[in-house]
Amino acid sequence: MRVLVVEDEKRLAGGLKKGLEAEGFAVDVALTGTDGLWMAREHDYDVQILDIMLPGVNGFQICSTLRKEGVWTPILMLTAKDGELDEAEALDSGADDYLTKPFSYVVLIARLRALLRRGARERPAVLESGTLRLDPAARRCWREETELRLTAREMSLLEFMIRHNDEVLSKREILDHVWDYDFEGDPNIVEVYVKHLRSKIDRPFGLETIKTVRGSGYRLSSDER
Ligand code: CA
Repeated sequence: MRVLVVEDEKRLAGGLKKGLEAEGFAVDVALTGTDGLWMAREHDYDVQILDIMLPGVNGFQICSTLRKEGVWTPILMLTAKDGELDEAEALDSGADDYLTKPFSYVVLIARLRALLRRGARERPAVLESGTLRLDPAARRCWREETELRLTAREMSLLEFMIRHNDEVLSKREILDHVWDYDFEGDPNIVEVYVKHLRSKIDRPFGLETIKTVRGSGYRLSSDER
């Protein structure tokens, strides 16, 4: 089994190489994101371990780039304990699993073996609502053939709404799923984001697919009239 390790901390990278080789893996190490992406494209790995903060291209970018290019090698991402970039983002970018630093080798090996048993997953289905399409793994979205430029939060909001197409969603439900469970800010932030979304997915196309349901919340409708 061939594994690519993309990690810029030399000691950790060296330790990983040694440890994994002792377990019978063939290990290639890249010390920058740029090298890591190049190696991932050039060679066929059974599994990859990606650090997030890397010189050149970061781990999220490597992961989402590979997924966009149709590379579905299982990826385990290493997240920092106090990193501002969290585990959800690792999974959003198309990683299959994550491990928080510092981690134990026993756990790392177990996770890798689990990923290898599972194998490369199928490309997740593209979500649709009427002429709207959203690719959750690639984080891309289209209205008919036009690609829409959405921020990460707008994309998450739209993904949640498409997954609950034609259902009325309360602001609270939206907050709980799109923001953190412990979000303590102004719930009217939802209104602001719905407004942004409308200006991107509906208005330029003369549509009104996000309906306001008075006193209840919002509903994304696949019926575009
Ligand atoms: Ca790093």
